[in-house]
Amino acid sequence: MPLPLIAAIVAVASAALILAYLRRSRGGEATPPGETGDGPWPQLPNGAEKAEPDAVERSKQAIHGILRDISAHIRSLAGENVMYGASLDKHKASLKETARIESLQELGQALAAELESMQRSNTEYRQRLAEANEVVVRQQDDLDKLQSTLGTDFLTDVPNRRSFDEQLAGAIELAKRHGDPVSLLVIDIDHFKSVNDMHGHAAGDRVLKAVAKILNDTRRASDFLARYGGEEFVMILPQTSADQALAVADRLREKVASTRLRLENTGLNVTVSMGAGEVFPESDTKESLFARVDGALYRAKHEGRNCVRLAEVSTGQ
Ligand code: GH3
Ligand code: MG
Ligand code: MG
Repeated sequence: MPLPLIAAIVAVASAALILAYLRRSRGGEATPPGETGDGPWPQLPNGAEKAEPDAVERSKQAIHGILRDISAHIRSLAGENVMYGASLDKHKASLKETARIESLQELGQALAAELESMQRSNTEYRQRLAEANEVVVRQQDDLDKLQSTLGTDFLTDVPNRRSFDEQLAGAIELAKRHGDPVSLLVIDIDHFKSVNDMHGHAAGDRVLKAVAKILNDTRRASDFLARYGGEEFVMILPQTSADQALAVADRLREKVASTRLRLENTGLNVTVSMGAGEVFPESDTKESLFARVDGALYRAKHEGRNCVRLAEVSTGQ
């Protein structure tokens, strides 16, 4: 529970105590004819105030003391939260006013009014708190969505390059620690520019989405696919040696090549070229691994496209 609310509750409780105190200690007033004395201000025998003027004075002093306490609570309350400051300033002002009243009866009535006002404020604070909580929950929701959006490619819905970078760093770290093989594929759509040129950019986007879906549907559950940028995808293959990566890559390549993609008025086949390579835990960073596998992709392009080439063995130099 926030501090301002606790302080408000304490203040209300203090005021309730005052009322109880007043009810117990007040005694000077005669019950008007016809009244039973069961009302808010119970009566003592007539003349009690005259008989015990010191007791009345002590009551006043005690009440003034309690008022000072409430006032102090409210001061700290106002200091804690500017949102509540305005209404609490009102309380402070009226309490100051109350503290100057000499008559015990007026003092009691003023306190009762004050108590009601504080209770109203308390209800208002609770409502505001509930509203504020709702806003916080909504904002957290938005943040979660934004966070996951930032890691995902908008067009293809697969993880983006940022996610890939993090994932690759983690995979290399694991390979270094445990010596398990990890491989990487770099995948590039062949002659994609001509798809755009012939069918338009929107059709190109649809092809990108379709290729991403084929790769995503064909990959093993443990493999991590991301869109690296443009018409280029990457895949991290944990627990996979270079030879195994070559087989996985060829399966993916074949699947893309054999899938007829549907465009608005026509069908289309595209092919992909790939570089594949295994991480060398002693010498590789994510940059050096990527550069080697990208070099293999370059060879695949130059050796006819729609094929996979394996990255050269790192010398560790
Ligand atoms: P290569 O076989 O050598 O890879 O040839 P390519 O045409 O695929 O490669 P190039 O680098 O010449 O052209 C890539 C094209 O991809 C050019 C660019 O406009 C297009 N492209 C990149 N990102 C997007 C995208 O998000 N949507 C669409 N529709 N096209 C894109
Ligand atoms: Mg490219
Ligand atoms: Mg290309």
